[in-house]
This record gives sequence, structure tokens and C-alpha cells, in this order.
Amino acid sequence: MGEAEQRDGLPALRAVPRRRYTNGPTPLEHLPRLSAALGGPQIWIKRDDQLGLTQGGNKTRKLEFLVAEALAAGADTLVTAGGVQSNHCRLTLAAARREGLECHLVLEEDLVLEDGPQAGPATGSAAPGGNPPEFTGNFLLFDLLGAEGVEVLPQGSDLMARAEELAEELRTQGRKPAVIPVGGSNDTGALGYADCAWELLDQLAENGLPSRQDGLAAMVLPSGSAGMQAGLIAGLRAAGSTIPVVGINVSRPREEQEPKVRALVDAVAQRLDLPPVPAERTVALGDYVGPGYALPTPEMVEAVRVFARTEGILLDPVYTGKAAAGLIDLVRRGVYGPDDTVVFLHSGGVPGLYARTAAFR
Ligand SMILES: *Cc1c(COP(=O)(O)O)cnc(C)c1O
Repeated sequence: MGEAEQRDGLPALRAVPRRRYTNGPTPLEHLPRLSAALGGPQIWIKRDDQLGLTQGGNKTRKLEFLVAEALAAGADTLVTAGGVQSNHCRLTLAAARREGLECHLVLEEDLVLEDGPQAGPATGSAAPGGNPPEFTGNFLLFDLLGAEGVEVLPQGSDLMARAEELAEELRTQGRKPAVIPVGGSNDTGALGYADCAWELLDQLAENGLPSRQDGLAAMVLPSGSAGMQAGLIAGLRAAGSTIPVVGINVSRPREEQEPKVRALVDAVAQRLDLPPVPAERTVALGDYVGPGYALPTPEMVEAVRVFARTEGILLDPVYTGKAAAGLIDLVRRGVYGPDDTVVFLHSGGVPGLYARTAAFR
């Protein structure tokens, strides 16, 4: 084993405990009709909406490492937090079912823009721009999958403080809880996407697509709690790829998101014993957030429709719809042209589409 192999981080990654929730790689597909409709680059899509566990999505890759870590620590209960339509909470609960663990969720009510009925879970009435926890989408699945605990806190609550407090209460009852952070985004969860980098590079090679030079214009993906983007940036760099990883923010302006992603890139690089990753490898664009997290924009609505009508692929309104709106805008502005190839990462989230239909009426 040469020095090069030591430094690429793969041996360190292989040594980390991991569970397996997906059989084999997710598909990498060409989207000829979408590419033609936009008249720009050739667009390919990495179908992480087809990952394992209930209805898939990017948290499945993170949970392979997070749950393995919890199990190694002797946990019998998972505690995590997120929004009322959190894909991360759904998949953490699904992993708990798979492993025979208890699962408790701490949820935050949606952001509501204007004064409207501040509906709680019981009333379920709609407020302008907001989406109170109606019994649908992921919120329905928390019940179907039988979460042992679901708490809904007001907008702006400190979810992780409550999750830690809840874990303490569970400990006094004799349980052994492991607290998983919002979005599964710590250095352990991000390893799932460091691993994805090697999977992707193999698939690019199989499809005759450039992977190590500037031939591939970019990988475009949503950037939220940052674990997915940070893991990919660290993993691609470790594998010697120079593909730019362009994050489209779903909740923060660029000047807040990029430092958040970079901190996690550094943590992953350290974890895998890699040399530091140059700061300029992290790009997270804040132009497509709109009024706020999970709040619709006209461009998101258009993007969801375009993917559905050209390729029959469903996106979600909170993450992939806004990321696709960013991709479409970058194509229209000529940032990516006809000679380029772009890979869009479909990170899942479609169960939440059915809970946020108002913008599509
Ligand atoms: C959580 C999530 C994201 C964002 O990933 P982060 O690692 O939190 O940045 C993107 N898409 C979907 C569907 C998600 O659930």
C-alpha cells in the first residue's frame, strides 16, 4: 500500500463502522429532454432519492455511519430533531425501525411569513406562506412508522437543547439514547457523502464522462445543514477530483452558509487524515432561498414542473426544487453552456411534496 493510497482517505473511511441501508450505487442517469428544453449543458442526475430506507433521500447515506456509531456506543434509542416535514427525522425513524431501536423526534413548526392562524398540529389550518403540521407527508409517516415520541415546538425553539434534555430524561428511565444532530450533519454523518464521491467517480468513468479534469462543469446540489456538500467536497478532493461542487442554499445567505460548509469540510478532512481542503473549493450560492426555508418561490415551482414534464422526475419544494431553480438560472445566464456537462444531485424529499401543494395550485 503506497503513500498515495494512504493519503486519499479511503483506508481511513473503510475503517469507520458502517451499516448498509442501500443495495449498491444509486443510478446516474442522463436527462436528454431536460437538457434539450434548457438548451444548455448536458444534464445528468444522481438519483439519491432512490437510496434505501423509507422513501430514500440523502440522510440514508449519513445514517449508515451515524447509526453504526450509536450502536457501537450501546444505544437502544435514537433522538433527533428537525422541521415538521423533516426528511431527516423520517429516515432516522426508518433506520431505528430497521435496527429495532426506539426513536424520539423533536420538531419545529414551520416558518410562517404573515400573520395568520398559528396552527398547531391539532388544527392543521393553513397560514399564508406557512405549512403547519398537517397530518400528511413526512408528518404522517412519523405516525405510520410509530415514533415513540413526537414533540412539536414553536418556530425559533432551540431544538437540540430540547433533544439533549429529552435524552437526559430517557437516561433516568433506563434508556440508552444517542442524540443525532439536525440533518445528521456532523463529521460522522458527512462521511456518507465522502463515500459517495468514490461511487460517483466510478459511475462517471463507466459513462465515459470526465471526472478528473475540468471537463465536468459542476456538480449542483442543495445545501442545508451542509453535511452532504461538505462530505462530497472532502471526498472528491481526497479522490483527486477537481469537479466543482456548487451548493444552492435553501435557508441561508452565501456569507453564512460557506463558513458552515467549510467548517464541516475541515472536520471531515481531519477525520480522514487528509491534507486541508482549500477554502475556495466551497461555493454555496444564496440567491435562490427566496423568503426563507421551506417557503415557496415561483422559480422553485417552475423547476419542479420542468423536471416533471420533461423527464417524469419529481423534485421536492424545499430542497431539490430550489436547487434545480438555481441550476436552471445558471444555465440561462450562460454559466454552463452547450459544451458542458453538469450532474444534478437529487437528494430526495419527495414525500414532503404532498404536504406543500399550495404553491402548485
Ligand atoms: C436534508 C436534505 C438536504 C440538504 O442536505 P444537507 O446535508 O442538510 O445540506 C437536501 N435535500 C433533501 C431532500 C434533504 O432532506
